[in-house]
Amino acid sequence: MRTLTVLGATGSIGASTLDLIRRNRGDWRVTALTAHSNAAELARLAREFGAEVAVVADETHLPALRDALAGSGIEAAGGPAALVEAGARGADVTVAAIVGCAGLAPTMAAIEQGGVIALANKEALVSAGEVMLAAVARHGATLLPVDSEHNAIFQCLCGNDTADVRWITLTASGGPFRDWSWDRLTAATPAEAVRHPNWDMGAKISVDSATMFNKGLELIEAHHLFPVGLDRLRIIVHPQSVVHSMVEYRDGSTLAQLGPSDMRVPIASALAWPRRMDTPCAPLDLAEIGELTFRKPDEVRFPATRLAREAAQAGGAVPAVLNAANEIAVAAFLGGQISFTRIAAQVEDVLGSYAPPAPGSLSDVLEVDGEARARARLLVTST
Ligand code: NDP
Repeated sequence: MRTLTVLGATGSIGASTLDLIRRNRGDWRVTALTAHSNAAELARLAREFGAEVAVVADETHLPALRDALAGSGIEAAGGPAALVEAGARGADVTVAAIVGCAGLAPTMAAIEQGGVIALANKEALVSAGEVMLAAVARHGATLLPVDSEHNAIFQCLCGNDTADVRWITLTASGGPFRDWSWDRLTAATPAEAVRHPNWDMGAKISVDSATMFNKGLELIEAHHLFPVGLDRLRIIVHPQSVVHSMVEYRDGSTLAQLGPSDMRVPIASALAWPRRMDTPCAPLDLAEIGELTFRKPDEVRFPATRLAREAAQAGGAVPAVLNAANEIAVAAFLGGQISFTRIAAQVEDVLGSYAPPAPGSLSDVLEVDGEARARARLLVTST
């Protein structure tokens, strides 16, 4: 039996993870489950899975969590320190599924325990980059990518030498607006942006998918996870989301990983690694799908991937600034404060406004993140 912690248990990735655990109850014991504010759902999950501890990051929801867990014997905790403590309890596998840089500190705490980190929370790696990878090496942790593209690449690289890689190609669905004109994009609504054609995901990543910032963040994530050099990483739009990514080798062989658009597949791959486990996903029926198409990304209508590539090239604090500015811009768009096309424009403005020094520690990264957020918020209010 292995122990499991899910940081962000009440979200989309959390639900997919716990669905797999539910089907394999005999193999897992749940240590900690966390949420931001959804105390009712967190308590329900904690009771169902017999968690040791349930944590709400927003402490104002702790009384509701305590009430909902009364008599269960499950510990209830709240606040940022409790969230970090949940990561620090250590589990054989920690699924990092909090959205945004808010997941960085508890993920780092889990890394320090040296177990397996199944990483969905791409913003944490984008912001902390070298700091996180150094901690992984220092503490002997194992970082397994859950993001479907990176999980695909990880599988395609197995048994091969990265020195033999010619290209790593990240596929992108292109999001719900991939065929929209610029004029139409300027009027896109939050409801339209979160309606992804292929994937059922949380609101933030759905907007990121529509702007292509998701692919930009993934480019930076891939740059850290698979050090083949930025010039060997490329992006291709593949509207069907069947090929999750590809690796081309110097002999001309291209290996791709294919599967349904269901995050339970890459999550299962990380949970069972280096073995395999059953999932309830329908088998891939390529004859039914019929056509797989590919095209080049359009960085004029969707500048996010260009901004991300430039940030990765610059390195240091720049990816953390890009991520923080994007998080604030997405929240402002979802809140009706700025237009869809202002998201990338605002990120570019924040990136151009200053150049903080490269972070050397977790607290440095959090400082960069905080300053970039403050600058981005100012832009929202002045728009
Ligand atoms: P959701 O919005 O569905 O869930 C986010 C989770 O994080 C919830 O449990 C939420 O709690 C919690 N949370 C939100 N804000 C905070 C905070 N400030 N502090 C602590 N916890 C917080 O997101 P997703 O599951 O869609 O995405 C999670 C991560 O996985 C993201 O980084 C995303 O990019 C990545 N990812 C997601 C994919 C998907 O298919 N969904 C695919 C690939 C990667 P509460 O419910 O209480 O708000």
